[in-house]
Amino acid sequence: MKFSTKAIRTGQQPDPATGSIIVPVYQTVNFVFDDIGRPHNYEYSRSANPTRTALEQCLASLEEAKFGLAFASGMAAVDAVLSLLRPGDHVVSAEHIYGGTYRLFEQVYIPRGISFTYVKGWQPEAFADALRPNTKLVWIETPANPLLQLVNVRAVAEITRRHGAKLVADNTFSTPYFQRPLTQGADIVLHSTTKYVSGHSDVIGGVVLTNDPWVHEQVKFHQNAAGAVPGPWDCWLSLRGLKTLAVRMRQHEANARAVAEFLSKHPKVLETIYPGLPSHPQHDLAKAQMDGFGAIVTFRVDGGNEAVRRFVKALKIWLFAESLGGVESLVCHPATMSHGTLTPEERLEVGITDGTIRLSVGIEDVDDLIDDLGQALAQ
Ligand SMILES: *Cc1c(COP(=O)(O)O)cnc(C)c1O
Repeated sequence: MKFSTKAIRTGQQPDPATGSIIVPVYQTVNFVFDDIGRPHNYEYSRSANPTRTALEQCLASLEEAKFGLAFASGMAAVDAVLSLLRPGDHVVSAEHIYGGTYRLFEQVYIPRGISFTYVKGWQPEAFADALRPNTKLVWIETPANPLLQLVNVRAVAEITRRHGAKLVADNTFSTPYFQRPLTQGADIVLHSTTKYVSGHSDVIGGVVLTNDPWVHEQVKFHQNAAGAVPGPWDCWLSLRGLKTLAVRMRQHEANARAVAEFLSKHPKVLETIYPGLPSHPQHDLAKAQMDGFGAIVTFRVDGGNEAVRRFVKALKIWLFAESLGGVESLVCHPATMSHGTLTPEERLEVGITDGTIRLSVGIEDVDDLIDDLGQALAQ
């Protein structure tokens, strides 16, 4: 089956009890046993729940993974992957990662005896140089938040495999519609399903996907032991969102391309960053490893916080908010929002200036989106 068919059908057979076309919300804690030691199928909804199973199977099929495990948030999914580590282990991470992931590394896992090395730039050799004998995981996001640098997944996967470590790719920005890192050698893929996968800004969730039985068993143990599981309603909402992932991503991307082109020609815009623009330094890599360029567009204006404040105040359609990946268009100020937990020095070091603005391009009419950006930039 191809992508759109899997998104609508995999894990979603008509309900055996009633014939219901839609997977029901199994809003139950427990399930009756057939006999001593013989649960009917499910036992207790922390361990597993049928609505969650449907979501896990569907997401696994879209990422071409054997196994999928859903979590209560993207950060719970990140944390579950980090449960593979033991004190003394080391992680090589791309420097450009989600701010919340960085905070978890620095403020939760360093005190527990894990060490991290952040790789400057994106050259595969830089990842190789950062490896140590005790490196267990290599962590990447591609394209990364918010400056949209890419990492060559195949090259870094090969380096990681030769070292005996595992490559983790946070695929939240691309979604499996545009990129499937497991097919390029990554060992573990995770998502904040809060973003495009669910797609309607109404549910927080995460997922971990892998073909590695050992990783799956460890993460599944952690899922049940620590218990950061999504409820059945949240799984149901994510499943409903997934059905339209393909059509949404096509429209998100078409709108993003038009917005990026508009901004790249605008006299008040210093720089427009979008992997789909030929001016992006890794445009060729994007074409080679992705099936589309996504819908996050970042740009820079002169005048720092004051200019950004004027711009966002003047917007009529774009909403000034955290997060991304919903059908509505959002504008975010990384320096004070997604990357507000970094110190000013850390932000400058990774290139997030005060005049940097990140757009999550939605699927409203693109003429309205561009008109609104134009009038706000003119203020
Ligand atoms: C949002 C996000 C996360 C965290 O997910 P939550 O669902 O907010 O917990 C992790 N990685 C990336 C790339 C994200 O955008």
